[in-house]
Amino acid sequence: MKTLSGISVAPGFVIGKAFLCPEDEREIPRYSIAPEKAAEEIQRFITAAEEAAAELRALETNSRYFQRSSPRNINKEQAAIFEAHLLMLEDPDFHYQIKARLESKYENIEWIVFEVSRDLSRKLMESSDAYLRERAADVVDVARRIIDCLLGTRRFTLTGLDEDVILAARNLLPSEVLGMNKDRVKALVMDAGSRTCHTAILLRSFGIPSVLGLSNAIREITPGGRIIVDGGAGLVILDPDAETLKSYEKKIAGAEKAGRALSALRNFPAETTDGRLVSLKANIGVSEEAADLDRYGAEGIGLFRSEFLFLQNSRGSEEEQLEAYSAVIKAMKGKPVTIRTVDLGGDKVLPGMQMEENPLLGWRAIRFSLSLPDLFKTQLRAILRSSVYGPVRIMFPMISGIEELEEALAILDEARAECRKKGQAFADTIETGTMIEVPAAVMTAGILAEKSDFFSIGTNDLVQYTLAVDRGNEKVNYLAKPTHPAVLRFIKQTIDAAHAKGITAAMCGELAGEPSATALLLGLGLDEFSMTAASIPQIKHIIRSISFESSRALAEEALASTSYRTVESLVQRWYAEHLDGI
Ligand code: PEP
Ligand code: MG
Repeated sequence: MKTLSGISVAPGFVIGKAFLCPEDEREIPRYSIAPEKAAEEIQRFITAAEEAAAELRALETNSRYFQRSSPRNINKEQAAIFEAHLLMLEDPDFHYQIKARLESKYENIEWIVFEVSRDLSRKLMESSDAYLRERAADVVDVARRIIDCLLGTRRFTLTGLDEDVILAARNLLPSEVLGMNKDRVKALVMDAGSRTCHTAILLRSFGIPSVLGLSNAIREITPGGRIIVDGGAGLVILDPDAETLKSYEKKIAGAEKAGRALSALRNFPAETTDGRLVSLKANIGVSEEAADLDRYGAEGIGLFRSEFLFLQNSRGSEEEQLEAYSAVIKAMKGKPVTIRTVDLGGDKVLPGMQMEENPLLGWRAIRFSLSLPDLFKTQLRAILRSSVYGPVRIMFPMISGIEELEEALAILDEARAECRKKGQAFADTIETGTMIEVPAAVMTAGILAEKSDFFSIGTNDLVQYTLAVDRGNEKVNYLAKPTHPAVLRFIKQTIDAAHAKGITAAMCGELAGEPSATALLLGLGLDEFSMTAASIPQIKHIIRSISFESSRALAEEALASTSYRTVESLVQRWYAEHLDGI
C-alpha cells in the first residue's frame, strides 16, 4: 500500500481500477507481417491518411474562422503549412514510397510510415536549399499525424472507454475532459494541474472526484491496479490493504447519508440567523448541467462558461448558440441565467488558434471577442434572442479598463439594432455585468460600476493576476492563496465599489464555493455566491448556521491581518468556535 498526496480538486471517495491515459509521445510498435497481409496494411494507411487530411481541413477551417476579422492575427504562413501538409498526405510519390517499402520489408504500416518519413526528412535536412530544409519538420509532423490515426489517438481512447475506471494522466486538456466518456470515469488523478485550472473546474462540475498536481506520481500507478481516490483530502491510495478498504467503504456509505441530509435544505433560503439574505447560484460549463440544478437548490446560474460550447466541437453558429442558451434558460424556469461571453484563449484554445508565448497575458476573453466583432456580435445576438425564454444577464470576462467595457456595450447595442432590423424579439431589459478578474479592474471598480448592472469577482484569475501565480502550474500552486491580504483587500474594495453605486457584488470564482471562505465572504458583504452546484447545500448550511454580525467581525479582523497564515488560523479558530469546525 502507498499513499500519494496531491491537490484536492473535487470531493468524493472512489475505490476502483486504474486506467493510465496514453501519452502523446508513444512508442511506435515494430513487428513483421505476413506478405498476404500487405494489402490490408496499405488499406489501413490509406484510411489513416484520409482521416489525417480530414483533421487538417477542420483545423484549417477553424483557424480561418477565428482569424478572419482580425488582421493582426491573420497568418499566411499557417495557411501555407496546412496546404503543404495536405499536399503531402495526397502525394502519389509519398504513397508509392510507402507501398514499395512495405513490399520490400513486410513490417507493420506504422513502422513503415515512420521509416519512410524519417529517411525523407533526413534527405531534406541535408539539402543546400533552406526552403527544402524547412520542409523536413513538415514531413515529421504529417507522419506523426498519420501514425496517431493508425494507433488511435488518446482522444479516441478516452471517448471510447467502456468500463468503469479511475483515470490517471500526466495532463489532460479541458477539451479532452469534455470529450471523454464521463459515465465511465469514476475518478481522476493527474500529475499536472491545480484547483482552479479549467480542467479542475470541469471535473468539479461533472462531479468526478479528482486529485491533481501529483507531480511525478502517476508513474507509480500500475495499470489495472486497485486504487482509492479521496478527492476531498487530495489522497490517492495505491494497492490499499484490507483495513483501509474497509474504512473507505464506511466513508462512502456515510457520505451518501450526509448528502441526502444536506439536499433537504434545497427549498430553504440562504439566510443567516440574523436575517441577512444572500443568493446562491450555480456555475455551469455545458448546457446539459442546467437540468440538474434544482436538486441542489440553485437560485439561478451565476456563470455559464459559454466558451465550452466552442470547445465541444461546435462551430458556434448563431442558431447553435441560440439553441444551447434557450435550452438552459427554459430548464431554469424563470430563474436568472448569467451568460458569460466567450473566454477563449489562455488554457482554452481551439484547434487552429495560434499558440502564444504568454497565453494568460495574451489574446484572451474580452480581448478575443473585441478583435473579432462579427463573432462577438453573433454570440450577443444569440443571447439577446434567447432572452424571450426567461431572464438573462450578460457578463464580460477579463475587463481591464473602461474602454473595453464601453466597446463591448457598443457592440451589444449594434447587436440589438441588428436583431430589431430582422424583426427578432428580445427582452427590454437585460442586465450587463463586469467580471472583476484583474487588479486594474479592482482599482477602477468605481468607474466600471457606472456602466455595470452587477459585478462578478473571478477569484481564479484575480488570484492569478494579483499574486503572479499561473493557475495551472502545480509548482507554484502553494502561492495561490485567496486569503493573501492583497486579495482580501481587493475583494473588499470591489464589493464596496459595487455597493457605493447600488449594484450587486457577486463572486463566481472557485472561492465562492469553498466552505472555509463562506463566513469571510459573507462578512465582506458579498451578495451573491456562484459555484459548482454540488457545493451549494454545504455553503447554504454554513450560512444558515451563522450570524451576519459575527461574520462581519471576522472579516474586519481578517482585513487587518498581515499574512495569509494569520488569516487562515483566524478563520479556523472562528469556525471551531461558531460551527464546531468545518
Ligand atoms: C475566474 O477567473 O474566477 C472565473 C470564474 O473565470 P474562469 O475560471 O473561467 O477563468
Ligand atoms: Mg476568469
